[in-house]
Amino acid sequence: MVEITIRKRPQTEAVITQRKFFKKTARGKVVKVLRERYLRDDVACGIQGCRECSTEIPEPLPFSGSLEHQLFSNGHYLLPDTNVFLAQMDLIESSLFTPPIILLQTVIEEVRHRSLPLYNRLKALTKSEDKSIWIFYNEYRSETAIVREENEIPNDRNDRGIRVATAWYNTHISLTRPPIRGQKQTPHPTVVLMTEDAANREKAEKSGVTSISVRKYVEGMKDANLLLDLLAADGSQEIEPTKAASGRQALYPDYLPISTLLAGVKAGELHQGHFNANQYNYLEGSVPVPAFDKPVLLVGRENMNRAVQGDIVVVEVFPEKEWKAPADEVVDQEATLKNDDAEDSGEEGDENGEEVFVKESRVLSESSSQKPPSERQPTGRVVGVVKRNWRAYVCHIDSTSLTSTLTTSLSTQTVFATPVSRLLPRIRLRTRQAPILLNQKILVTIDRWDATSRYPEGHFVRALGRVESKEAEQESLLLEFEVPYRPFGKAILDCLPPEGDQWVVPPKGEFDVQNIWRDREDLRDVIVCSIDPPGCQDIDDALHAKLLPNGNIEAGVHIADVSHFVLPDNPMDSEAAARGTTVYLVDNRIDMLPSLLGTNLCSLRPFVERLAFSSIWELTPDAEIVSVRFTKSVIKSKAAFTYEEAQIRKDDPNLQDDLTNSIRLLNSLAIKLKAKRMAAGALNLASPEVKIHLDSAESSDPIDVEQKELRETNSLVEEFMLLANISVAKKIEESFPQTAVLRRHLPPPKTNFEKLQDILRKTKGLSLDVSSSGALAASLDICVDANEPAFNTLVRIMATRCMLSAEYFSSGSVAKNTFGHYGLASKIYTHFTSPIRRYADVLVHRQLSAAIGFTPLHATLHSKSHVERVLDVVNRRHRMAQMAGRASVEFYVGLALKARGEQAKVRGEADVKEEAFVIRTFRNGVGVFVSKLGIEGLVTFKRDTQFDAENYTITVPGAKEDVKISVFDKVIVRIEVEKDKNTQRGKVKMTLVEPVDSSAL
Ligand SMILES: [Zn+2]
Repeated sequence: MVEITIRKRPQTEAVITQRKFFKKTARGKVVKVLRERYLRDDVACGIQGCRECSTEIPEPLPFSGSLEHQLFSNGHYLLPDTNVFLAQMDLIESSLFTPPIILLQTVIEEVRHRSLPLYNRLKALTKSEDKSIWIFYNEYRSETAIVREENEIPNDRNDRGIRVATAWYNTHISLTRPPIRGQKQTPHPTVVLMTEDAANREKAEKSGVTSISVRKYVEGMKDANLLLDLLAADGSQEIEPTKAASGRQALYPDYLPISTLLAGVKAGELHQGHFNANQYNYLEGSVPVPAFDKPVLLVGRENMNRAVQGDIVVVEVFPEKEWKAPADEVVDQEATLKNDDAEDSGEEGDENGEEVFVKESRVLSESSSQKPPSERQPTGRVVGVVKRNWRAYVCHIDSTSLTSTLTTSLSTQTVFATPVSRLLPRIRLRTRQAPILLNQKILVTIDRWDATSRYPEGHFVRALGRVESKEAEQESLLLEFEVPYRPFGKAILDCLPPEGDQWVVPPKGEFDVQNIWRDREDLRDVIVCSIDPPGCQDIDDALHAKLLPNGNIEAGVHIADVSHFVLPDNPMDSEAAARGTTVYLVDNRIDMLPSLLGTNLCSLRPFVERLAFSSIWELTPDAEIVSVRFTKSVIKSKAAFTYEEAQIRKDDPNLQDDLTNSIRLLNSLAIKLKAKRMAAGALNLASPEVKIHLDSAESSDPIDVEQKELRETNSLVEEFMLLANISVAKKIEESFPQTAVLRRHLPPPKTNFEKLQDILRKTKGLSLDVSSSGALAASLDICVDANEPAFNTLVRIMATRCMLSAEYFSSGSVAKNTFGHYGLASKIYTHFTSPIRRYADVLVHRQLSAAIGFTPLHATLHSKSHVERVLDVVNRRHRMAQMAGRASVEFYVGLALKARGEQAKVRGEADVKEEAFVIRTFRNGVGVFVSKLGIEGLVTFKRDTQFDAENYTITVPGAKEDVKISVFDKVIVRIEVEKDKNTQRGKVKMTLVEPVDSSAL
């Protein structure tokens, strides 16, 4: 697609239209704005070989249009209106949907105005090679430009503009293809207006313009059966209503008008926040709001009122006497609703609806057990949705909801799609392909959720492949966590050095045409080395240390000079900003930057000259900083060690070379740096980290799971990275107090720890002092159980979960006394050390470079709002990347378990059994943590147990007598991976083996 440029013509030649409107300025003054358009008559129609518009066009629309549609045998072009793009983008994007499309300027503008994400998708489509889309600048062509009439609303004006443009095209085609004497006139292709608006279609037909609805159009297409599934459930009134839809009773209260919501929030009577679903109990959700310490609890469907995970909702809070504690109950949607019928569910009056209603009310009333008043939190209900956060979700089709499973049947069925995420409701879906989609992972978008429908309605987007195939699992994971994973496009790759992997640091002097050596320190002779995990390809940091004549030590951290290659605001930079971070999965890495940079030009490999950004300190032998300086440099690393290699080298008394001695120096400093941090109150937190052993690179079948081992040399590297990050943070904050890119970790609200404190006190007689990070660190140190060494780690993991997550921010955007990093006990912090794989670091490099006068600061980094916007994306991407990484580990742990289970069976042994700790008790089960595998699981009981919520214990019948199980108890669980019968989704299932066998419970 080529956009045409409009040459300016002298005013006298141009037809001018004027648009007059009134605008309120920021100060409240009303001004008259006149907008003039210069109209032209040479805006091209884009059709191949057009006599009149004979400009050279690289990718024109075909001369005969498309001949593939049943209804338009003479050929046609499609001209969709704005709503088609807003409602049916999945259809338009499908590779099976290929008619030539005329995209009006009016339509693009309207789409941009209404939805930026959809506008971006549309823009991407116009550039795609497998689509034939011509952008027609109808507002600039004299015959198609229209002026809004008096009393005409903008919407009607645009609809009229679209009809006028369609009519013009048809006239233009017939005028430019006059009959040739003696030859039979060949029929012309038609330009067809596609719109869902029946009134608009009527007006179009009246003025002789052919128009069609989306559904009718798709029905006449070759791949109608596949394409009809892609239609959004709303957008068209032509979908046959589901059984008994008319006269249906509302199941949910109506939402309040948006103006009432906003006024209520402003007055403090209503509260706005993000809706969080409860992963254990689908009948409960919560909304954290600023007015209350604890989130507002929403109990039951009606109170959640159609909110979906991540939606921004407005809640009304109930009077305090109705406040409650969350239920201690596992309520599984699939189990509770398994007999619900997709075709007619929703009706409260029908049998199924009644059954569901009764079941759910029973669950709700049972769970309202007596709880200590301290655990009560505000309760409320959703009265409106400010912003939906709907996207495409990875789902499985529930086989029990199918009325026919014959793969030859192509009749439409209404089925349930169960999202992979436990936080989402199941989605009702109408599809012709249901039998084919069984056992596949599919992508489904929610279109609407009416007050009369128990479930949201959605449409099928595409199939990802067979359940449990690596490709489908991997892609679904990336989609689920919204990781951008498309290969880098040409425009991005064009930003790389043209020499490609032949690029080298030029020699100093006259051959340095790009002036790369200007202001760079030559550190090639310094004994620098890198220490990383085995197999590390993207080496972004290296270190050195040497004794100075005065007895002090010079230590240096050298970071790949990524900002030399990634220049502000070019396509590569924009892509990196949008990706925000490299995403590490067990068997795959989704890069933030093209691999030429990440694994080559910016990887500080040994024996190769590389550009670096160096932070060099003079430290006393006690690790006190005497001075620090920052410089761009050229280094030549002398070795790339693994943690293990560096450790062995350091510990070998026979080695006395410079390299080994510099590792020893670094290590001795690191030990002191760490001691100082700890003394200042830094937290030693824990998160379950495991390592997956893959069988071979090709098969990538996991063979075992192992806990990560930490060596002294891990800590060595970590301490120096922290030191560099803190030093750089101070420097850029001094230089750019308004826009420095920093990272902070807010102290957790004390209430976050209440439950853990209570559990520790009641089960172990231990107390947790959370008055400061130092106090917390000290009290965590004494949370030990002499009989159970793993107990301390477990408490640390649980404490870590009570904390907030760290975030990037712009220094001018928050109060200075909130800059601190709680976990590191540092007053200021940033990320400087991994610019290959974190975008925040790229920005920090640019700011540091400007702070030392190496390069001027790009204008965007002077803008607080710009920095805020970029960091919002980066923060979000980081959270998602972490979750994606964890999900990937979980998937492989599942595969490894399955393999182990099968091996055990072959050897005639029993199933996989592991030690686990109880971390939560429910009325009908326990939550356990298997530290060896780094996974959490849920053991549920069908039989009733005696549940003591106050003391976090349950009592279950044992072989001889009742057995009491309490939080922190060590148990043995049997772990199996079983496929969910309905969805074919692999699930880790745990049962207790000791102290009781729970398979019978
Ligand atoms: Zn033309």
